[in-house]
Amino acid sequence: MRFNKHLESIKTYEAGKPIELVVREFGIDPKDIVKLASNENPLGCSPKVQEAVKDIVANMALYPDDSMLKLKDGLSKRFGLTHQNIIIGSGSDQVIEFLIHAKADENSAILINSVTFAMYEIYAKHVGAKIIKTRSLEHNLEEFYELYKSEKPSIIFLCTPNNPTGDAIDAVKMQQFLDKIDSDTLVVVDGAYMEYAKYANEAKAVAPKELVQKYENVIYLGTFSKAYGLGGMRVGYGLADEAIIKQLYKLRPPFNITTLSLEAASVALEDEEFVNKSIALNFEQMNRYKEFANEQKIDIIESYTNFVTLSLNNNQNSTKLADDLLRQGMIIRDLAGYGLNAIRVTVGTPEQNDRFFALAKQFL
Ligand SMILES: *Cc1c(COP(=O)(O)O)cnc(C)c1O
Repeated sequence: MRFNKHLESIKTYEAGKPIELVVREFGIDPKDIVKLASNENPLGCSPKVQEAVKDIVANMALYPDDSMLKLKDGLSKRFGLTHQNIIIGSGSDQVIEFLIHAKADENSAILINSVTFAMYEIYAKHVGAKIIKTRSLEHNLEEFYELYKSEKPSIIFLCTPNNPTGDAIDAVKMQQFLDKIDSDTLVVVDGAYMEYAKYANEAKAVAPKELVQKYENVIYLGTFSKAYGLGGMRVGYGLADEAIIKQLYKLRPPFNITTLSLEAASVALEDEEFVNKSIALNFEQMNRYKEFANEQKIDIIESYTNFVTLSLNNNQNSTKLADDLLRQGMIIRDLAGYGLNAIRVTVGTPEQNDRFFALAKQFL
């Protein structure tokens, strides 16, 4: 059978290995498995969410509120924007899909960092767009600007902080960059880890309101999957000028967010104390990874997120390390697929990190 020809160049995205699969493949007891592979919040989510969703579970016959009033109220209050500036997706992943389908086609190009979130490339391939990458490992805005001028991409992705490297763009430098981009080029600022960056260094904190009000061609993306601990609920959002949101809405399937997810995200958004506690623990534990890297004489990239990227020495192999840990029930991310001899490890609870240090030390 013949399929859409664009699919031929797509390699199916491999998300972090699910615990369920490790249980089946290696016969390891689920309670002995530690997953530090998908940047989930090791503390889970706000206990208030768990309380609130109980009422929802008792009544699931009705379709969700497709206007998403409660969550939009929460987001517009948080960011000082209107409902017309917001689109909510099944994860911010879905918003990425909408915006690429809305803006790019076979005659356009997208510009991304050399190493970045894999989904930009996959969705771009859906529509047959050309993919242009910078050379530097970390975001280099001069390089972005040179390629913008020569290649005239229709979309530029700035992932800050970046996944899977953890580096972040200076907020002032980003604005200087945006000032030079014409209004027909869509710039996506993916802030999936922005809550962490803001805590770690105010200079890296990008303010969505300012972006949206100042630039009619910028969309800011946020998610409930990371700091808010709701990866399983699949809720993310895009914030942009009304004219952009209107176009994205044309691609949104009705009821794309479940009642349960809408309630969970609305309540999670209110519990700032929980998020702050999670982030504080994250950076406290991240110091231990820096010490570990020092001890083992391996490189660690300065991270503004809830994960660390460890570059191994030439005599060690990231794939072998990841496999070795997996067999012992520790799931991390091998970055060999990105052309790096490196691993990405989500910062876990103190006990989870202890286990990582012990197993990794053995291997190294
Ligand atoms: C996790 C992540 C997302 C999206 O996550 P969703 O679960 O789909 O909301 C988007 N961008 C980056 C860089 C991420 O790491």
